[in-house]
Amino acid sequence: HEYDPAKARIFKIIVIGDSNVGKTCLTYRFCGGTFLKNPEATIGVDFRERTVELDGESIKVRLAIWDTAGQERFRKSMVEHYYRSVHAVIFVYDVTSLTSFHSIPDWIEECSRHSVGPLVPRIMVGNKCDLRDRREVPTSAAQRFADSYNFPLFETSAKDPAEKEHVDAIFLTLAYRLK
Ligand code: GDP
Ligand code: MG
Repeated sequence: HEYDPAKARIFKIIVIGDSNVGKTCLTYRFCGGTFLKNPEATIGVDFRERTVELDGESIKVRLAIWDTAGQERFRKSMVEHYYRSVHAVIFVYDVTSLTSFHSIPDWIEECSRHSVGPLVPRIMVGNKCDLRDRREVPTSAAQRFADSYNFPLFETSAKDPAEKEHVDAIFLTLAYRLK
């Protein structure tokens, strides 16, 4: 049988967190395979997509990844559009910014406010692990926090080419939970 992308199941994944944590670079790494040099160019909502194969090639799913430049810039109608019919959520913080980590509860709250229910798979990603000398968020603290919400925690770097496969694995983990 010929693979028909139009018939593949499609899942909407939103990527949220403070601005500058690396949301755009992470989604770009996953969907484009490379590190985006000038993420500043992204404004408003950005949409990227990648089809992945699960269980060998037997299952193909399309991941539609919604990325934003901070929704404080959105109008209300836009926010509602963003959170509508979400299948999974990725909360991103920057391991070199305690502030961005402490914002995660606000983002969780924001999801609830927009009716993203507790059954929607959610994961947490600590980005910028390549900046070892500047780390402010210890893995142990992040793990405790993630455990308290029952979220899987991943630490990675959108920039470090050696982490490319790990970034893929994060998105694939979600895809397996959605299929
Ligand atoms: P966003 O606002 O959350 O979408 O963050 P961006 O993806 O625009 O990235 C913000 C800044 O962090 C940019 O200058 C990126 O080059 C940088 N950045 C993103 N990911 C990483 C990473 O893993 N490591 C390092 N060192 N810098 C990163
Ligand atoms: Mg961005």
